[in-house]
This record gives sequence, structure tokens and C-alpha cells, in this order.
Amino acid sequence: MATLVTGGAGFLGSHLCERLLDNGEEVICMDNFFTGRKKNLLHLMDHSNFELVRHDVVDPFKAEVDRIYNLACPASPVYYQFNPIKTVKTSVVGAINSLGLAKRVGARILQASTSEVYGDPEVHPQPESYRGNVNPIGLRACYDEGKRCAETLFFDYHRENKVDVRVVRIFNTYGPRMLPNDGRVVSNFIVQALKGEDLTLYGDGSQTRSFCFVDDLIEAMIRTMEQETTVGPINIGNPVEFTIRELAESILNKIDSPSKIIEKPLPSDDPTQRKPDISLAKQVLDWNPKVDLGDGLDRTIPYFRQCLNL
Ligand code: NAD
Ligand code: UDP
Repeated sequence: MATLVTGGAGFLGSHLCERLLDNGEEVICMDNFFTGRKKNLLHLMDHSNFELVRHDVVDPFKAEVDRIYNLACPASPVYYQFNPIKTVKTSVVGAINSLGLAKRVGARILQASTSEVYGDPEVHPQPESYRGNVNPIGLRACYDEGKRCAETLFFDYHRENKVDVRVVRIFNTYGPRMLPNDGRVVSNFIVQALKGEDLTLYGDGSQTRSFCFVDDLIEAMIRTMEQETTVGPINIGNPVEFTIRELAESILNKIDSPSKIIEKPLPSDDPTQRKPDISLAKQVLDWNPKVDLGDGLDRTIPYFRQCLNL
């Protein structure tokens, strides 16, 4: 089995490449290194089944593969808002190029979609049937609407061209290999606590998220690709919900640090609540996340200590 992973040098992509190689697959990793880095893959470079290609998903590409995982897209609000027009191109043109390749070579293709398609949800927890509450002209729209349009393309290629698609909607996932300056909340709080800097709580910290450890997520992604029951979309994430203030407190409880929690302005359109309904994933994938937040933080903090040479 030959597999192409777009965005394979990033946080989730590098874990996915590693797992696919462990499963005996040939892996081509394609990345433009915007938020990914070679360092995430150094340990795989000598593997005879592994190939790394520097390429932008916005430009057409060819590869003889059986599976395509389309992960190319910055996931942190800081990075996806850095060049919002490029973010839309990456999601939309990247999806068209990846789907075009899948169609030509008859590959099965999985889209890494996101809980952001639900926007600031009025239905809680969010089932796949919920159509979302997205501001189409706000600062997050480049990502949210780009990912929504990518889902549209996946389903149109499926209906019109019989492309064999799978779509997963990923909820907040964290773990080793996130960039220390990634900007997402788990990495920010851990790095701030390790450096003895104050933890930047946006707003009053009452907004909620549900945090999934990377190993659980990768397992569900591969199971989604290999099952025949549904094309999706399937929510994948850990359904245990925390306020962001609770997350900050949990991290401070684990790291001996002089840091305090300070409040900063809440970014616009920041979702107030988010928690996946994972009934479909449980049923179709026979999957349940195994790593709770405490264990996941224990596995993640040493990685950041090492990154910071502490
Ligand atoms: P990440 O930023 O670490 O990884 C994204 C990768 O895509 C990086 O290696 C980056 O260099 C690459 N990339 C970006 N633009 C590209 C382009 N134009 N051409 C080629 N490569 C490009 O983020 P991640 O957390 O690993 O997320 C991976 C995927 O999963 C993304 O599509 C993201 O939207 C989705 N996702 C992640 C989460 C999460 O919590 N981690 C949640 C929802 C969805
Ligand atoms: N957040 C925060 N401090 C930070 C980074 C993020 O309080 O330093 C908040 C952010 O406002 C949001 C939540 O944490 O409410 C999750 O943010 P993240 O950027 O990780 O992902 P999102 O789920 O918003 O895409």
C-alpha cells in the first residue's frame, strides 16, 4: 500500500507518517514547511519506505498512490490568520488538487476537516448532523469556510466522479511535536509555565474545549480510512469538556512554576463551547479515546521541556 500524506511534516502529519510506516506502508510525505518541519521526521528519513517531498498543495502534483490523507493546512489561529487568502487557497485549491489526483489514480482520500465547521455552536455537544454557526466574514472564516468548502468538494467529487472519500472532523488535539510557538492553547500554556511566564487566558476562561491526545486521534483517523461503512463526516475527539481556565489550572498543577494566570482580550468569533458527539465514531470505528487530559499532559510536558532545553 502506498500512501501520500499532505502536510505530513506537521504535528498530526508526522505522527500519521510514523504510524503508517509502522503498519508496513510506503509513505510519501508532502509539505511546504509553513508550520511543519523536517525535525519532526528526522527519525524516519532513513526508512526505506519513506520519501519527503517539498511541495505546495496549491500547485498540482502527481503520485502513484492507493491512499491520500489531506492534512495540508495550518491549524493554529495564529498561523492560519497570518495569510488568510493563502489559507483559503490551501484548503480549497489543495482539496481540488488532492481530489483530482485521487480521481486519476483511483486512490481513496481522507480529508482532515475540523470542528471549526460548526463555528460557535448553538447545539451542544455537536453531532455530525449539526450544520454550524459560522461567521463568513470574520477573522476565522479563512479557515472555517475554507474547510467547509473542502468538505463540499469532497462530497461533490464523491457524487459526481465516484471518488472514494472519507471525511473526519477533528476536535482540538495536542501532544508532542506541536511547535513551541504554535500559538494554540495547550502549547502556549505549557511553554509559558515552563518559562515561568504568566499564562495568557483569553477572555475570562469560561469558554470550553475538549482535548484529544494525538495517539488516540491518529488511531481513529486510520480506522476511518480503512472502514467501509461510511464516507463520513465522522467527529473524532475526546468528549471530556474543560473550561480554558480549568486547563490553565491543570497545567500549573503539573509544573512547578511561579507563573500566574492573567486575562487578555478574547479574540473575535472565539467559540464559546465545543464538545464532540462521538457516537458515530464509537459505533463505526469501534473506537473510544483512551488517554485522559492528565495522562496526555504528562506525555506532552517532557517534550516541551526538551524543546526549551530545560
Ligand atoms: P500543523 O500546522 O502542525 O500541520 C499542518 C501541516 O501542513 C504543516 O506541516 C504545514 O507546513 C503544512 N502545510 C500548510 N500549508 C501547506 C501547503 N499550502 N502545502 C503543503 N503543505 C502545507 O497542524 P496540525 O495540527 O498537524 O493539523 C493537521 C491538519 O489537521 C490540518 O489540516 C488541520 O486543519 C487539521 N486539524 C487539526 C486539529 C488539531 O487540533 N490539531 C483540529 C482540527 C483539524
Ligand atoms: N486561548 C487562550 N490562551 C492562549 C491561546 C488560546 O486562552 O494563549 C484560548 C482561545 O481563546 C480559545 C481556546 O483557548 O478559546 C482554544 O484556542 P486554540 O487556539 O488552541 O484553538 P481553537 O479551538 O480556538 O481553534
